[in-house]
Amino acid sequence: MELDDIKRRIAAAEQAAGREPGSVTLIAVSKVQPAERVEAVLNAGQRIFGENYVQEAQGKWPGWRDRFNGVSVHMIGPLQSNKAKAAVQLFDAIHTLDRISLARKLAAQIAEQGKSPQLFVQVNTGNEPQKAGVLADDLPGFMTSCRDLGLSPRGLMCIPPEGEDPVPHFRLLRRLAEESGLDLLSMGMSADFEAAIAEGATHIRVGSAIFGARDYG
Ligand SMILES: *Cc1c(COP(=O)(O)O)cnc(C)c1O
Repeated sequence: MELDDIKRRIAAAEQAAGREPGSVTLIAVSKVQPAERVEAVLNAGQRIFGENYVQEAQGKWPGWRDRFNGVSVHMIGPLQSNKAKAAVQLFDAIHTLDRISLARKLAAQIAEQGKSPQLFVQVNTGNEPQKAGVLADDLPGFMTSCRDLGLSPRGLMCIPPEGEDPVPHFRLLRRLAEESGLDLLSMGMSADFEAAIAEGATHIRVGSAIFGARDYG
């Protein structure tokens, strides 16, 4: 199946970049995919998944978590502050921490629920007005605010602008992470995960290359 092919490509990209085998975490992005496709990938042994919508994830993952051991679900879509409670209940990692109001809500829920989801700060590396994410220049201040709230983000995440070479964005994200003392990098999707691995990605988010095209109906 496609999953095996993707895993081979990840291993080859790790080797080409002189990185440890297994140093890149594959997040299989299962948003809006039919249940049978997701179950096929679960049956093939994949355990780390990405979702974009709280409500959709709420409907799907509790059942699969009961049936498959060791599942971990990562939130990779925009997160409304009023969904912070559900997000902390549902997700093992949140890649889209992008504003102080959300940081406050997450900090309160993390304390209340006694959970510790892995946190990534989303960076708007292309300075795109319509796109979520902290601007590069604002990142040091944002990190300080997060830490003041008791949050300890572990990494950065980016979605490079459509139609642009993603590599300069991956490089910028890596430099920003180094400057902020963060060791995780969530970058690279179906079209560019090998380039992201060459630039140091620790987490790649691959959807359509594993599951096939998404049908938004
Ligand atoms: C949908 C999505 C992906 C997966 O995209 P593909 O091109 O299907 O691999 C990765 N990251 C984010 C943030 C997404 O929303």
